Formats: sequence, structure tokens, C-alpha cells
Amino acid sequence: MLDKRNFYINGQWVAPQKSNDFEVINPATEEACAVISLGDKADTDAAVSAARNAFDSWSQTPKEERLRLLNALLAEYKKRSDDMAVAISTEMGAPIDLSTRAQAGSGYFHIKGFIDAFADMEFESPITPENTSERIIKEPIGVCGLITPWNWPMNQVTLKVVPALAVGCTVVLKPSEIAPLSSIVFAEIVEAAGFPAGVFNMVNGDGVGVGTQLSSHPDVDMLSFTGSTRAGALITKAAADTVKRVTLELGGKGANIIFADADEKAVKRGVIHCFGNTGQSCNAPSRMLVERSIYDQAVAAAVDAANAVQVGDPKENGRHIGPVISQTQFDKIQGLIQVGIDEGAKLIAGGVGRPDGFDKGYYIKPTIFADVNNQMDIAVQEVFGPVLAMIPFDTEEEAIAIANDTVYGLTNYLQTQDPEKAKRVARRLRSGMVRINGVDSKGPAPFGGYKQSGNGREGGVWGLDDFLEIKHVTDWQ
Ligand code: NAD
Repeated sequence: MLDKRNFYINGQWVAPQKSNDFEVINPATEEACAVISLGDKADTDAAVSAARNAFDSWSQTPKEERLRLLNALLAEYKKRSDDMAVAISTEMGAPIDLSTRAQAGSGYFHIKGFIDAFADMEFESPITPENTSERIIKEPIGVCGLITPWNWPMNQVTLKVVPALAVGCTVVLKPSEIAPLSSIVFAEIVEAAGFPAGVFNMVNGDGVGVGTQLSSHPDVDMLSFTGSTRAGALITKAAADTVKRVTLELGGKGANIIFADADEKAVKRGVIHCFGNTGQSCNAPSRMLVERSIYDQAVAAAVDAANAVQVGDPKENGRHIGPVISQTQFDKIQGLIQVGIDEGAKLIAGGVGRPDGFDKGYYIKPTIFADVNNQMDIAVQEVFGPVLAMIPFDTEEEAIAIANDTVYGLTNYLQTQDPEKAKRVARRLRSGMVRINGVDSKGPAPFGGYKQSGNGREGGVWGLDDFLEIKHVTDWQ
């Protein structure tokens, strides 16, 4: 079993001030694969103090120096990409090919994207082209606490650490305690890239402990959080007394509106997307809204697509889906599948219990419910597993109303071959992102939500802006 008890504080790997061991469970075997420490207030304080001490000089380093270090980070990340993929696959169960390509790969994509955006960014400008005596200066906000989840661990870590460091902030990262191994590899990568001591710090811990200590810390200027809406609300409350900036990337319950004129692969694509990463994505299209005239054929196509999804061991190569992260999630998802049955939704694929051939590991049957209505629990709650709810609709207006009838507003999807209808509907959907006909973004783009899906935007220039203060200076001669 790996011993990963130390934290990375002030450029050193240090033992926790008080021992508090926590086992990391491999979701495919249900066995401990590593032991970490859950930090205490003294560890959090040491990390915040290191970040505070490093801030003055780091925030004043020339842009070229920070770009050089970010490029070194990218090179080190590339060297360790196999280690990263194995760490992610072991801690959260993503099959190794997905882990290499999408999970570890997303980290590389974001580091590169931020380097490009940062290189082009101007931090000072006249307030208007005509008025050069008033100046706008963008400055780093200060010490940032960064709290991340387990489902796309390196995606989330790089979306926070890299823009914060780029613009001159110093950071304390607290990754998910149930998937901390990838962040430990990441800290080694930061160390190898040669960042000055105290600029990047990492303390493992749980939400009640290190998470709350960071959120309420008087010396932390900003808290950037990705995770559940439940924890986002608690963090916002804990941060209120110190009036720090809080940016939140939270849950989702995306609608995928399939109009009768959608292309023939739309249903299959929606099912595969919903089940990707074993359904553990905040932007999963977990409600499939289908126009009634093609509803029966869509249900048949969805069953075929679900039956073609393989469930398998994360260590094996292939396009199968792995287990979900934990016993807690397994139990929650099993419970919600049973709720769907009890609510009277029509189970057309999957169901409760493990898939055939599995008696261990947090494996779930790819599950689809048809004839769902938007008030049922399986349409309301973020299941965070391979479970799809199909809902029929009659008119464009009704589809928009159902899609927007949720507390969330992260990503919605729509499928139609009528570009005017696509634009019309995209404008009406209350979400931070809309994906038309399965086309994803081609480069860095703002990722974030409306309503209870959060308030920040991560990625590209938008992600850099989140970590900046704006200063206005007069009589600039
Ligand atoms: P979670 O909220 O349980 O935990 C996320 C992180 O917050 C962990 O590091 C945890 O230790 C910490 N935490 C928990 N309670 C806390 C508290 N009171 N104070 C401070 N920190 C606390 O979420 P999770 O189960 O790890 O992740 C799944 C959730 O994340 C889902 O709801 C998913 O939709 C969401 N998510 C959102 C995005 C996005 O960008 N919108 C991306 C990925 C995941």
C-alpha cells in the first residue's frame, strides 16, 4: 500500500503535525490502495502562511518568468502523464484508456490553454483609448484556497492551480480526500518544474476540517471550489465573515433535447455521453427530452445503446465504463434506481444490483428509465451514475420549459438539423453552456453554470480573470 501521508508546504514534503491516517479505497477492488493524512488546523495554517509569505515576490515576478515556469510545468506534466493516468484510474476507477486520454489528458489541455491565454493577456490599459490619464490595472487577488472533487480530478486541479499561479496568486490546494493520489503526483510535478517555495502548497484533508479551515481563513483572499451544491453552500457561509471572493463550480442535471429532425445518431450519442466516466460528470446529459413523434423509436435506440455499453475492470484497455467512486455513491445510486422504479418510471435497461459477473467493486448496471416526468426524483436529483431519464415532449416551448425546470443550469444539449431552431432554443436555455448536435468546444472556453450550478467561469481568459482584482488609477501621466 502506498504511503502518501506527507503534505507539500513551502517547497517541502512535510509530515502532518498530528497523525490522522485515512485509507484511499480503489473502487474496483474495494481495497485500500494508499494511506494519506487528513490535515489539521496547524497544517492548514502552515500552508496558508507559506502562501502569504510567497505572495509579495511571486506577484511581482515578470510575466516572462511565470511563463517560463508554466512551460516547465507543461513539460514535467507530459513526462509524468503515464503516472498521472494510473493514479487517477486507481483512485477513482476510470478505465485506463479513458484515464490516459481524457482524465490525464485534460490536465495537459488546460495547462497549454492557460499558457496561450496568459501569453496574450494585457494586464494594464487606458480606461478608454481616448482617456490615457486613467489606468486599469489587473492584479492577482492574493492567496487562494482551491478545493476540488474526485470525478475529474486533474481537470479540476489544473483549471484552478494554473490560472491562479499564472496571474501571480499563491495557492493552497485541498484535493478530494477520496481521490488524492493524482494531486500528489501533480505536487511532485510542480516541484520538479521549479516553482519558488510557498507559491504552491497542498494539504490533504476532509471538508469539515481543512476545507472549512480554508473557507473561513482570514488570510485566504479567495476560495475557488468545485464539487456538490451542498458543499458549495456551506463554503459560501463559512467564507462570509471574511468577505473573501468565492467562485463555485457545482452540480448539474443537463437536458438533452432531441427534436424529431435530429440526426439518426443523436439518441445513441446522448446515451454514450450520459454514461461516460460512469455518469460521474457535472455536465452529463442525464435527462433526455424526446419529441413525441419519434419517442418510441428513440426508446428502442436507447435500449440498443445501453445494451452495447460494456462494464469492466479499469486496468483493462478498452472503451468500457468502470465502477463508481465509493460505497457511498454506490448506495446512493442503487437507492435512486429503486426510487425510479417505485415512482412508476419504466425501466428499459439496467436496474438495481451489480452487472452480471461482478461480486466486488462499485459497479452499476447502465440504466435507463423511460416515461419519466420532470417532477420524479430521478429527473430532479443529480444521480452521478450511469442512469438516464427519458422524458417525452410535444412542442419546442414545452421542451424549453422542462429543460429549464431545474435548480441547476450547467450544460444543456440540443439535437436538430434546423439551424434557426437550434439558435432560438440555445438562447432560451438557462445554462452556462449549450452544446448543439454533439459538437464540443474546439479550444479553451468558459466552463461554468447558472443558478445552483455555480457562479465562476473556468478555462481560457475567463478562468484567468476569475483570479484578478481590477484597480482604477487616475492622473496617470
Ligand atoms: P463534494 O462537494 O462532496 O466534495 C468536493 C470537495 O469539497 C472535496 O474536496 C471535499 O472534501 C470538499 N468539501 C466537502 N464539504 C466541504 C465543506 N463543508 N467545506 C469545504 N470543503 C468541503 O463533491 P464530490 O462528491 O467530490 O464531487 C461531486 C460533485 O461535484 C457533483 O455534484 C458534481 O456535479 C460536482 N462537480 C461540478 C463541476 C463543475 O465544474 N460544475 C465539475 C466536477 C464536479
